[in-house]
Amino acid sequence: METSRAMRLSGPALAALYILVCLTPVILAAAGTVAPLDPWEVGAAALGLAGLTAMAVQFVTSGRFGIVSGRLGIDKIMAFHKIAARWVMLGLVLHPVLYVLPTWLDDPALGQERFIAYLTLPHYRSGVVALGSLFLLVLSSLLRERLPWRYEIWRASHLILGAVAVGAGLHHALTTGRFSAAGLVEAFWWLVALAVAAVLAILYGWRWLMLHRRPWRLASVRKVADRMWELDIQPEPGNPAWPYEAGQFVWMTVGDRRFPLFDHPFSIADSPSRAGISLIVKEAGDFTGAIGRLEPGTPIGIDGPYGEFVLAAHDAKAVVLLAGGVGIAPIMGLLRDMVARRDPRPVRLAYAAGTPVNFACLDEIETAGRMLDLRTMFASEEDAEGWAGVVGRLDRQRLAELLEGLDPRQTIALMCGPGPMVTAVSDTLLDLGLPIDNVVYERFDYGGGVTSRLDRRRALQFAGIGVALAAMLGLLAVFIR
Ligand SMILES: Cc1cc2nc3c(=O)[nH]c(=O)nc-3n(C[C@H](O)[C@H](O)[C@H](O)COP(=O)(O)OP(=O)(O)OC[C@H]3O[C@@H](n4cnc5c(N)ncnc54)[C@H](O)[C@@H]3O)c2cc1C
Repeated sequence: METSRAMRLSGPALAALYILVCLTPVILAAAGTVAPLDPWEVGAAALGLAGLTAMAVQFVTSGRFGIVSGRLGIDKIMAFHKIAARWVMLGLVLHPVLYVLPTWLDDPALGQERFIAYLTLPHYRSGVVALGSLFLLVLSSLLRERLPWRYEIWRASHLILGAVAVGAGLHHALTTGRFSAAGLVEAFWWLVALAVAAVLAILYGWRWLMLHRRPWRLASVRKVADRMWELDIQPEPGNPAWPYEAGQFVWMTVGDRRFPLFDHPFSIADSPSRAGISLIVKEAGDFTGAIGRLEPGTPIGIDGPYGEFVLAAHDAKAVVLLAGGVGIAPIMGLLRDMVARRDPRPVRLAYAAGTPVNFACLDEIETAGRMLDLRTMFASEEDAEGWAGVVGRLDRQRLAELLEGLDPRQTIALMCGPGPMVTAVSDTLLDLGLPIDNVVYERFDYGGGVTSRLDRRRALQFAGIGVALAAMLGLLAVFIR
């Protein structure tokens, strides 16, 4: 669900809110009194309370809520979602371990017996189910690219395992948690249950309804490069057009399969000044492989807009646009919008692809040069007869050439492409003097891989949130009686 820019929270505000929400049940527990606990039990309980809340919060860091992910962009919010999953897992695994650790240190056999009792007694069953689901969830995410499952199957399993983990965790907290029996904490868990139910209802109920009540239709589909298609999608009469910013993306479903679980993200390759939207799609698998065969008139479901890969979010004197492969889609959106607005700033565009037949929209980019102060560089890894661009990659020398005449400190670079290209080019742009906040990129897959300096800075910031959460949890635990 997208929100207006003013309503989107900044990174530091989100970090503070995240820590506060995760610690809320611990604060409530500290305010009440239960039967005396030893420090191990207090630590175990605090980890359980904060861990379960953090696990529930994972539902809103999935990139679908503009108020949460709006100012961060999909790349950052997904990176946070993945890092936070690690401390959720760690905290919740330590939760039962800390309960038995003192016994185990005194008498390992008795400790083991207690641990087995925790795992097997019916009283704790929902806790074990929650932990087991969480474990499967994390494992299937780490192994996603190696599992022989279709993406949709993995996604459905991710949703079901997440819902089971949180549902069973809440049941466990309400039926076995000592603090949960004390009014405020119990009320908090019911609130969390309600919030998770509302999130699921919005994601899969409300969005399903909107996909059907606000239909779009495929106006045309045309080939723009080898295995690459451009779709013109128009709203049905009566479906109000929504405002978006060039560079944002939408989730698309096709035909009768207009259910949110089947949607795929695609960047809008268009300017908001034109009616409808255009998408440039590269054949990658089942869904995209059938795009070129769609008939004009096919009903389309569009949910959006999302993302922060936009120029309006940055104030700069010059613009560098960089595209790798189908990463040209949002770059064309930005370029078309600059043309529509007759943006007077200097623009440099570098576009890299594997072979000359992979390049799309070259004529249009050339035409844009008549309306903008635009300089271009096309780099193909393979040469071919008639290819007029450069052969090879966008290395340091070529990027320096591209930036010639621009003040790097006053330049914003927006880049979209495959992971390795994004990593290498963004690091080089920093070497060439662009400030770290002026290099903005979006990747088309959430998989890991080699990280850029920007990714590492981001990971460090997120780790800082985890450390702050752990430190405050430790402090608060002192007050639990
Ligand atoms: C923010 C964003 C913008 C994108 N914009 C474009 C674009 O403008 N043009 C374009 O051609 N591609 C774009 N993609 C990539 C596109 O979404 C995938 O190529 C497409 O979903 C593949 O689906 P498939 O069934 O054909 O292939 P599959 O074989 O099912 O998937 C290939 C890979 O695509 C990714 N993927 C598949 N389904 C989804 C999904 N529902 N959600 C997220 N990732 C998925 C997975 O990493 C998967 O391994 C974008 C991706 C993201 C995240």
